[in-house]
Amino acid sequence: MMSLREVDAFYGGIQCLHQVTMEIMPGSLVALVGSNGAGKTTLLKTISGLQANHGGTIGFNGRDLQGIPAYQRVKMGIAHCPEGRQIFTEFSVEENIRTGGYLQPKATVEEDLERMYALFPILKNKQAELAGLLSGGQQQMLAIARALMSRPRVLLLDEPSMGLAPLMVQEVFSIIARLRQEGVTILLVEQNAYEALPLADWAYVMETGRIVLGGKGSELMHNEQVREAYLGM
Ligand code: ATP
Repeated sequence: MMSLREVDAFYGGIQCLHQVTMEIMPGSLVALVGSNGAGKTTLLKTISGLQANHGGTIGFNGRDLQGIPAYQRVKMGIAHCPEGRQIFTEFSVEENIRTGGYLQPKATVEEDLERMYALFPILKNKQAELAGLLSGGQQQMLAIARALMSRPRVLLLDEPSMGLAPLMVQEVFSIIARLRQEGVTILLVEQNAYEALPLADWAYVMETGRIVLGGKGSELMHNEQVREAYLGM
């Protein structure tokens, strides 16, 4: 479905991704773990088209994404749920969800809005409230719902558990597990390797802009290097 070959990325003259090669199979959940500043967010931005300055190739369903603007990539089926959620705090919950469907026909938006309320009942209860008044976990659900409104073929999730209370972390990961069961293809960036790896069909470890390890999520859980660096064991 998606295939990255030797992707480099630059901020000005500074290179922050080096020769990143990875594969995302349809219907799979791929986790990308790594410490702060490793380049995980930059990689997601490069895939969604928000980070234009890059080398190498990103293939998506047989097409090379080079030169294709971000909005066009959304149309092609790439949804990016950004780090820090980036919801519109002054808009209502429902208005926020609707913004995710801006490229869809009206009937599809209405249908999908109901689907989102079925998937996230708490958002239905709070549909008229200002999004800025939601808890961190509810805002994360809102950000995921908004991303799903574009009917993505692949969902890029950046640190969905960041800053959440432990119970909410559990809830967000159970939603991710459910999306995976429903067949949504997911690239999940997480510092919480302990929760992310068991869910992952395949996982990569990134350090200073390079992929240093790849394997089945369950296998990396038992890898010595991963256990020391990311699982605190
Ligand atoms: P985090 O989880 O803390 O966001 P990350 O793995 O997602 O970390 P990135 O945010 O992708 O890492 O950052 C990778 C490197 O690029 C870091 O050294 C960071 O300081 C640098 N960087 C990120 N954004 C910019 C920017 N807009 N301009 C210059 N350098 C940047």
